[in-house]
Formats: sequence, structure tokens, C-alpha cells
Amino acid sequence: MICLGIESTAHTIGIGILDNKKILSDQRSMYTTEKGGIIPSEAALHHKKVKKELLSKALEEAKLNVKDVDLISFSQGPGLSPSLLIGKEFAKYLALKYNKPLAGVNHLCGHLEEGKFFTKAKDPVFVFVSGANTQIIAHEGNKYRVFGEALSVGLGNALDKFGRGVGLGFPAGPKIEQLAKKGKYIEIPYVVKGMDVEFSGIVTHCINLYKKGVAVEDLCYSLQETGFAMLIEVTERALAHTGKNEALLIGGVAANQRFVEMLNTMCNDRGAKAYACPLKYSGDNGVQIAIAGIMQYKSGYNIFKTKQQIGNADINPNWRIDGVETPWIRK
Ligand code: ATP
Repeated sequence: MICLGIESTAHTIGIGILDNKKILSDQRSMYTTEKGGIIPSEAALHHKKVKKELLSKALEEAKLNVKDVDLISFSQGPGLSPSLLIGKEFAKYLALKYNKPLAGVNHLCGHLEEGKFFTKAKDPVFVFVSGANTQIIAHEGNKYRVFGEALSVGLGNALDKFGRGVGLGFPAGPKIEQLAKKGKYIEIPYVVKGMDVEFSGIVTHCINLYKKGVAVEDLCYSLQETGFAMLIEVTERALAHTGKNEALLIGGVAANQRFVEMLNTMCNDRGAKAYACPLKYSGDNGVQIAIAGIMQYKSGYNIFKTKQQIGNADINPNWRIDGVETPWIRK
């Protein structure tokens, strides 16, 4: 089965083509800014501008025509509505024009299934840390359940917010990782509430320290050490609670080597296995939407087949992962 997956939840529009387990193409285009954060309407404008060219590139890379594809899948949510709308309209247009079924994929589910696809993890505790999302998730009782999460801003966005406050531009995560290598630890707040974490106060605290003249390298280092340690603590407790023995790091922040190192250390200490989604696939991409799309199609979940169903398919900007049914997972 060949699936064409379209990702467009935030800053990246991606088109991936998958033939069951074989990736035929992976094309992406990211909206970036030199200074300041993501402006949703501008990100959507970017996606609108590049979508057709991206599709041509993806088809060329796969050496296919849309006619050869069996299924179109798109990220239905959660995400920024203006970005989601561009992907949805494009997916619907292709499904209707070429008479193909359409799968509405939960973006987080795409990340989770992609993490398993690329690693040997079978039933892990997922440490999902992207821009907007920071959640510790595991599959229990026929659903992906959230065991802990960021109460306000996700860690990726928190790092970006800090970056904006100290003039690093967007996305700030990779720049913070580099600067942290030259920094030393200074004490900043550590905020774990039950199984949840809270980053916004820490970011404000760090920006205030920067304004008082504290070196940006020291702040980068301390922000990373503290934020990552908070998540590792919650992950360890989720492993203990669920009795699982695998942890899988996914989402854009998984690109951070210090984070991977800290997760490895914790897992080694308790005899669990740590996995990280390969760097190339840790951020948003169309392949993840194709992977989940095929699983959904085979199990019949959230598939739009008739012209009327496809016409009515809509985005779901607040679709939580624990609201997804997972009939393709059998235990
Ligand atoms: P979501 O998927 O939640 O809608 P998103 O699309 O912004 O959000 P991703 O593309 O998965 O998420 O990840 C982007 C985030 O990852 C950004 O916040 C970016 O700063 C962060 N990031 C990327 N590389 C690194 C790194 N090396 N260290 C820390 N953070 C990083």
C-alpha cells in the first residue's frame, strides 16, 4: 500500500510517500524567522506558497504520479489552525481529484508511531518533546495515555521563548544546545508538580537574569540541565508506574544530544532501554503522517471514503492524543 502523507501542524509543511515500510520520498519546507517567534498566518502563507512545488518534488523523488498512490493522509490536529487548514485543503483536493481515500491523522500519533517505526521499541514510555507539546505518554488500556505533561508552555516553545528574550531567533533549541557547551551551572527554579512540569516561570526567571547581565551561555546550560532533569524525573516515575522497560524520545527536542545522554543514563541505571527517534525524523515531516495513515487505513480508523465524507473532513486543532482510538495496536 502506498500512502502520501501531508504534515502541516505548525512551521513545517512536509510531504512523505511510503510504500508499506519503505520510504519513497520525504520533502519538507520550514518557515523560519531571523528574530521573533512563529507568526501563524505567515507560516500558513509559506505552506500555501510551497505546497505544489513540494508535491512535485515528492512525486519526482518517489518516481510516482498521484494516481499510483492508494491513500492520502493529513495531519488533522493538534496544531495551529491556519497551518492545519492549508494541509487539510490540499489533502482533500488531491483525494477528490484522484478519487483516493483520506485518513485524518493525529499529529502526535504520527510522532509516536514513527518513533516505533524507526527504532526497536515495541511498547515504550514515550518522552514526546516537540515545540508545542511536552508529554510523557504510554499505551495502556487500548489508548495512548498521558502520564505527565507541561502545564503551560512545552519545552521546545519554552526554549524558543527564552531564545526570543535573549535575541537568538527561531528556532532557538539548536543554538541553545551549542551555547550550553560553553556554560556553567547556576541555580534556577526546578518545577515538577506531581507528574507535570512547568517551564514558563523558569524561562521568565532566565530572561530576567540575562537582563541583569548573567552570561547567556550559563543560562543556556542551566535551562537545559534543569528542564531535561525535570522530564527525566517524570519519565522514570512513568516507567515505574506502568512497569514498562523502554523509553523512547521523540519530537524536535530529541535532536538535543545532552537530553539523549541524560535519558540513557537514567534508563541504564534502572535496567531499561532508551531509544531516540533518528535525528532526521525527530521533527515534523510527512513520513510520520503516512506511517500512521497506513495503520489507520488497515484498521479502518478515521478514514474518509465517499465524496461526501471527504468534503466534510475538517481539522481538529485541539485533538489530544488520549482522544485517539488505536485499533491497530493489539496486546
Ligand atoms: P509541535 O510538533 O508540537 O506542533 P513543532 O512542530 O514546533 O511543534 P518539532 O518540529 O517537533 O515541533 O520541534 C521543534 C522544536 O524543537 C523547536 O522548539 C526547537 O527549538 C526544538 N529543537 C530543535 N533542535 C533542538 C536542539 N538541538 N535542542 C533543543 N531543542 C531543539
